[in-house]
Amino acid sequence: MFDIQEIRSQFSILNQEVNGKPLVYLDNAATSQKPNSVLKVWEKYYKELNANVHRGIHTLSQLATEEMELSRRKIQKFINAKHDFEVIFTKGTTEGLNLISYILTSKLKKDDEIIISYLEHHSNIVPWQLLCERTGAKLRVIPIDENGILQLDYLDKFLSEKTKVVSVNQVSNALGIVNPVEEIIAKTRANSEAYIVIDGAQSAPHFTIDVQKLDCDFFVFSGHKMYAPMGTGILYGKQEILEDLPPFHGGGEMIAVCSFDGTTYAGLPFKYEAGTPNVGGNIALGAAVDFIKKVGQENIQNHENALLEYAQRQLLEIEGLKVYGEKAHRTGVVSFNLEGIGISSDVGMILDKMGVAVRTGHHCTQPIMDFFNIAGTVRASFAVYNTFNEIDLLVEGVKKAQRMLS
Ligand SMILES: *Cc1c(COP(=O)(O)O)cnc(C)c1O
Repeated sequence: MFDIQEIRSQFSILNQEVNGKPLVYLDNAATSQKPNSVLKVWEKYYKELNANVHRGIHTLSQLATEEMELSRRKIQKFINAKHDFEVIFTKGTTEGLNLISYILTSKLKKDDEIIISYLEHHSNIVPWQLLCERTGAKLRVIPIDENGILQLDYLDKFLSEKTKVVSVNQVSNALGIVNPVEEIIAKTRANSEAYIVIDGAQSAPHFTIDVQKLDCDFFVFSGHKMYAPMGTGILYGKQEILEDLPPFHGGGEMIAVCSFDGTTYAGLPFKYEAGTPNVGGNIALGAAVDFIKKVGQENIQNHENALLEYAQRQLLEIEGLKVYGEKAHRTGVVSFNLEGIGISSDVGMILDKMGVAVRTGHHCTQPIMDFFNIAGTVRASFAVYNTFNEIDLLVEGVKKAQRMLS
């Protein structure tokens, strides 16, 4: 059923040596590799279909448009959105979060509040700080405990009629912690009128997503972290909310009528897709969804969870190794440091010499690093194509780094 060698054979890039050692790619939370099926669809677009979408009446333009709209419907099903026009193509999570924070500007006033958490990626912090600067609103941050777990009693304290936005990630990129977004959404709905934004950059590659069941107002993620090309991403928003809010970028594709007396906007999703989109990438994102569905989301999750458990168990046997969020419910990520070795990049460099690719540093989450009073961590993150043997090589490399650096 789940044939790891067959899966690996679909990722040509994995079949190479780095620094004379077989590549062990464990930086999937930064970006995943792309299967040949996705690359083939992307290449086919440029070799056979390349044309601008929506405007042309010529055949290639129509075919390109059809393929991109087919991809939109695949993504609609993938996240269980009610309508395909609630699915907006972006270039990634960062763009999605910036777009949302910008179009909400007129909905906030001085002393309103925006709630985020300590576990957020900088791209789910800075756009809200900018929104605060524009409007005089204030940011409130749900703290974490020593295991990295969100202290939701603070959410209860923070929520009020002043709360206008609650924006949290479903899975933390730095620690892999799975946040109880269902509970956060339920509490928010019960105690405020806030817009609810979920950063799904680290959950979409690993979980089954159901935006209707979640009942969030917005859900954003990146294609490149879920087997699709760079420069792809999705913003989901509820129909009535997207229809109510103003556009973000002005330009081509997003207008109904443009004149100097005034311009009227196109309907969804085009209102939020000004300019020429990444047509090839967006079509390939649909192929990435096909890949995930074919392997099976349950199979992917079971495999990745088994890898995480195996990695954590072995790493914790190393004396002086601390796993951050050790006791929290996690997926896909193990983030750690070696006692006495303050600089995570030293460990990363030794691992790289052994062909093992991990990320080191603050992972765009400096508040988490500040909380633990560290400069960074070593982060190994998993995808469907990783093997138990690769975890053994990681552990061997970490032991070697410890010997060399202490
Ligand atoms: C990667 C990531 C982002 C930013 O995604 P981009 O693809 O770089 O725009 C935001 N939030 C989380 C949780 C992430 O992991």
